[in-house]
Amino acid sequence: MKKAVFPGSFDPITNGHIDVIQKALPLFDKIIIAIGTNTTKNYMFDISRRKAWIEDVFKGEQKIEVQTYQSLTVDFCRENGASFILRGLRSTLDFEYEKPIAYLNHELNSEVETVFFLASQNFSSVSSTIIREIIRYGGDVTKLVPSQVLK
Ligand code: ADP
Repeated sequence: MKKAVFPGSFDPITNGHIDVIQKALPLFDKIIIAIGTNTTKNYMFDISRRKAWIEDVFKGEQKIEVQTYQSLTVDFCRENGASFILRGLRSTLDFEYEKPIAYLNHELNSEVETVFFLASQNFSSVSSTIIREIIRYGGDVTKLVPSQVLK
């Protein structure tokens, strides 16, 4: 069974994340969306709310599972029998950020391979950070997030 983990903060989940997952779905038998806790980040939405939104977005999709974790991503992969880590690339900045992490993860567990998906052009400027900023100042994020988050 081809199992992948899509780790991230999802604070909140955006149409960009969903786009990456849609691209990945035909390639894997199971995708675990794994909401991690990055100790250097302050979150806007608490983890149970972030998880509930994602579960609602993908309800009925048998291949998707949503979990939270507080460990190294490669350890989480090992515990769940996943051989692939999925990440999205919006720009060369993302690439430069992701590259050392992918090398390091491979160093930590050579059985796990990181797979990158190029963001679709229309989502390449969408980030949770920008969305949080728009929400803070009362702007319109209708086109950027799923209806679950909009509510
Ligand atoms: P993290 O804190 O791990 O960066 P994020 O939730 O910000 O968590 O992002 C999770 C993954 O989704 C990252 O690989 C990120 O590059 C990717 N991603 C975020 N937004 C987009 C987008 N608009 N298009 C494609 N990939 C995206």
